[in-house]
Amino acid sequence: MKETKGLVLPGEPLGTAEELAPGRGTYEYKGAIYASVMGYPQVESESKTVSVKAIHEIPHVSEGDVVYARVEEIKPMLLVTTVLCSAVNGRVVPGYPDGTVHISKAKDSFVDRLEKEFAVGDMIKAKILSGYPAVKLTTVGHDLGVVSARCQECHAPLAHLSENKLVCTRCGRREDRLVSSEYGKVTHILGTATSSAT
Ligand SMILES: [Zn+2]
Repeated sequence: MKETKGLVLPGEPLGTAEELAPGRGTYEYKGAIYASVMGYPQVESESKTVSVKAIHEIPHVSEGDVVYARVEEIKPMLLVTTVLCSAVNGRVVPGYPDGTVHISKAKDSFVDRLEKEFAVGDMIKAKILSGYPAVKLTTVGHDLGVVSARCQECHAPLAHLSENKLVCTRCGRREDRLVSSEYGKVTHILGTATSSAT
């Protein structure tokens, strides 16, 4: 169930961080949640997550661009991400468009289940296959894939162990990911673009 309200502008307060969790198109500042884009706010009634569906989303990415994106949802055939910034110059992609990775474009070998390669909240490096009308991404490539991830159990950062294995720096839990050769090396870039990801 989603509850929809009227149009809001960037900077408009949406509620307090006690009653709502910040989702896409929002940011948290001193205990309150604000819209970061112009659009229509929606509240997911179960998770109490407020997000703003931006209007006038103009594509600012094109085929061949390499970007950083955050995994938002894993569907059976599709990874749904928010495209955050260019991996070349760190420039933010306006409107933070959705970007999807089809299961056939995740890696150069067969993917059984996307949940074995990614988790919600992961930062990935991906290449744009098409920028319009929808942003489609691929993570096929040595330097593409997950560049930053947190433990599914305790949320501490995961360190690279070997190949596609990560290990929790706090509880020691091991997790599998489609690990990029740049895993753990790009946090300084992501830090500027993940204000709503905590
Ligand atoms: Zn852990």
